[in-house]
Amino acid sequence: MTTEQFAARHIGPDADAERRMLDVVGYDSIDELMDAAIPEVIRWHGALDLPEPASEHDALAELRDIAGRNTVAVSMIGLGYHGTHTPAVIRRNVLENPAWYTAYTPYQPEISQGRLEALLNFQTMVTDLTGLATANASMLDEATAAAEAMTLARRASKSRSSVYVVDADALPQTIAVIASRAQPLGIEVRVVDLDADELPGEFFGLHLQYPGASGAVRDHTPLVGAAHAAGALVTVAADLLALTLLRAPGEIGADIAAGTTQRFGVPMGFGGPHAGYLAVRAGLERMLPGRLVGVSRDAAGNPAYRLALQTREQHIRREKATSNICTAQVLLAVMAGMYAVYHGPDGLRAIARRTRAMAARLAAGLRAGGVGVADVAFFDTVLVTVPGRAAQVVADAQRRGVNLRLVDADRVGVSCDETTTPAHLAAVWAAFGVPAFDGDVAVDPAWPAGLARTSAFLTHPVFGAHRSETAMLRYLRRLADFDYALDRGMIPLGSCTMKLNATTEMEPVSWAEFAHVHPFAPASQTAGYRELIAQLEGWLAEVTGYDAVSVQPNAGSQGELAGLLAIRAYHADRGEAHRDVCLIPSSAHGTNAASAVMAGMRVVVVGCDDDGNVDLVDLDTKIDKHRDALAAIMVTYPSTHGVYETGIAQLCARVHDAGGQVYVDGANLNALVGFAKPGRFGADVSHLNLHKTFCIPHGGGGPGVGPVAVRAHLAPFLPGDPCGDGGDGRPVISAARHGSAGILPIPWAYLRMMGAAGLARATGVAVLAANYVAARLREHFPVLYAGNKGLVAHECILDLRPVTKATGVTVDDVAKRLIDYGFHAPTMSFPVAGTLMVEPTESEDLAELDRFCAAMIAIRAEIDAVASGRWPAGDNPLANAPHTAAMVSADEWPHPYPRSVGGYPAGVDRAGKYWPPVRRVDGAYGDRNLVCSCPAPEAFED
Ligand SMILES: *Cc1c(COP(=O)(O)O)cnc(C)c1O
Repeated sequence: MTTEQFAARHIGPDADAERRMLDVVGYDSIDELMDAAIPEVIRWHGALDLPEPASEHDALAELRDIAGRNTVAVSMIGLGYHGTHTPAVIRRNVLENPAWYTAYTPYQPEISQGRLEALLNFQTMVTDLTGLATANASMLDEATAAAEAMTLARRASKSRSSVYVVDADALPQTIAVIASRAQPLGIEVRVVDLDADELPGEFFGLHLQYPGASGAVRDHTPLVGAAHAAGALVTVAADLLALTLLRAPGEIGADIAAGTTQRFGVPMGFGGPHAGYLAVRAGLERMLPGRLVGVSRDAAGNPAYRLALQTREQHIRREKATSNICTAQVLLAVMAGMYAVYHGPDGLRAIARRTRAMAARLAAGLRAGGVGVADVAFFDTVLVTVPGRAAQVVADAQRRGVNLRLVDADRVGVSCDETTTPAHLAAVWAAFGVPAFDGDVAVDPAWPAGLARTSAFLTHPVFGAHRSETAMLRYLRRLADFDYALDRGMIPLGSCTMKLNATTEMEPVSWAEFAHVHPFAPASQTAGYRELIAQLEGWLAEVTGYDAVSVQPNAGSQGELAGLLAIRAYHADRGEAHRDVCLIPSSAHGTNAASAVMAGMRVVVVGCDDDGNVDLVDLDTKIDKHRDALAAIMVTYPSTHGVYETGIAQLCARVHDAGGQVYVDGANLNALVGFAKPGRFGADVSHLNLHKTFCIPHGGGGPGVGPVAVRAHLAPFLPGDPCGDGGDGRPVISAARHGSAGILPIPWAYLRMMGAAGLARATGVAVLAANYVAARLREHFPVLYAGNKGLVAHECILDLRPVTKATGVTVDDVAKRLIDYGFHAPTMSFPVAGTLMVEPTESEDLAELDRFCAAMIAIRAEIDAVASGRWPAGDNPLANAPHTAAMVSADEWPHPYPRSVGGYPAGVDRAGKYWPPVRRVDGAYGDRNLVCSCPAPEAFED
């Protein structure tokens, strides 16, 4: 493989390094290693049918060509997606900056203070604007946030009704997602025209849109009162920009607010990714789904951020979790939060006023020309009546380069935004056949009684301190410097595949032809996108051996739900709707169980044997017990224990014999690509994680894409069009047809540049690297599980329980001490408590692998020093880790080991040392004293 080939850039070890690693592992070649590791029953021996690999330069040229087949029109469609100007300082220093986009989810708070602060800004922005007490750190989109609000309302409501009332003026895609989520849970959704019809007698929740999809701004106060009288909770799906001018949902009594932050500087991207939001009133915070950032303190008593109330989440609560959400939209939440920091409250208000003034001028011009405009209060969207002429007006506007919303044969919706110009208004007037208008229009007219916002927002100093570009640049740099991401070193997280996110893969994401396309733009403008998606879906089908793929799910958890809903629909279609048991091994990822419950299934846990494999005896017992009700089994392959289980083929056969379907969680596909195809070895459906195996960066906890891949018999039940008629009965998983389409150029480029041979080599090197680390560390820490010939797959579990038992040194201590050595910790205590799971990936070169092994071996020696009594149990470099610069340079040094051992342990590069900004964070303290918005600056004074 020559260095002109991208694969040689993507894969860390070169031929010489590979040789040395093979020697340590004891094999002559990668082929021989893979033959030994992968059970023959699942092995696939062909070559993937993919195009010959393109160079980076040629792949970009092809993408330019594809992008050129999209048309960037002026978008005035609205419906939750708006034009916005991403401040260049944010685009270049967040979206295009690997310090932000290659970071992992902030489970290790000491090395994540930058993104935690950025997310706290986001949460503060949402709570301030919505007038509610607590907001989480992002949702996947507005529609899924609204669906999560529905289930939250059901958990919190005292009403026994199963009816959920939805405003007929809600966004159509939101109604579609709510309906899909409600169905398996036995919730009855009633869409009600709240201007004309009564509320039902009993219901547990009410969803209102504010402003409505039609643009109308209504005073919802009476409805909120009526809902509360019925014991129901109220969700207001609100536009945050409008809330700078309108009374906040919290101020009219709403219990929950949901929505999107897309128009805060995040391009539309043909549907995503952007950050949805969810906020709740006081008293509901412990029921909130998703990740929540809170303030706590570190070992020195200084304020420090970390994820709060994690016991709510799927990784702890599993089938009892409030939601299956795991990967969210962190990178986009950071962008939206920074947009608010950059503009400040007055800047946002000015953008909102200008947007409203544009809409007012548009309406005035139409009225002056004799065209009917809905006589309601509105913010940015005007509903225009042109009897019988709507399609013609929309087509005419399109010819002028402007997309409008075709509501029905008689009505057109026109939405203004931050990017609207007088020229756009002129084009719209012309399309309606009215003359250009230059009369006077009030810039900020009074709102009808009860609608205007009077309360302050974004009063925290952070929303005023970074308003010049110099200040913003430095603020972004300061926060990025707090964090450890892939741009500093290895992130050996098991199951998460923190591999290279190549710059060439990332560049097209910023191109206008991909960034500025509305998800409901006419098909004639999206040929490039549709070609790219069709190719990508085809390649993913080839890689996995399935027949059909949908990229709609915007995270792995959503792919799981989509796959399980397909299974559910399949059984129902065959008259076996009673099949509702989902078997899940005890080692499964938390999202599996949570998704099964959301799909209306009952979770039955199957045990593991002493080798960590699915216990086939227990499997038989559970199948026998639930034979008639068996819907599916959900297994991860290779297992979450990092082993290629040989029993997989038998497992599939037994479940099929009992009438069940086999779901293979594809998060570990990095161990299979080019060597085995789940769709060929017995599985019916999988989700993939494009943000793991296929190089979409983790973004600090999102975005992601979780395509669902199925065999032909499940293809009719793949996700449907959120804006279709709904008549096709397919489930709708996210708000946009193609989910987070804006980042699909990344996996496209990866596949296009790697080719069949490159992909297979990546898998081989990933497996080699895991076995190399296992071989080097085995004598220092036992490797918990292994499969054929003592080999692991693409990751290995280091068992620290014996060490902990003997010395009191915990996985936490080792994880934090690794920070001092310049590493991100491996996965802690998943899937086995008291262990560390290491996934090196193919992208780390041998020098970095050796640096990691050396650090682990040195840490083992430190543990021995604690065991021998040289250092006391409570005061040693492990217990005190991580060490900050402030700590080791303090005038006082009360510890029984030298400062240099604390701050510069063996092998650390003194010139390039990463220093965490805080000491070990006390998570429990923050959960007892919950603070989830920006703390007053005084909190940081000494
Ligand atoms: C990451 C992961 C998931 C969940 O994927 P998200 O994109 O975070 O929702 C599910 N299963 C396994 C095994 C995983 O590693």
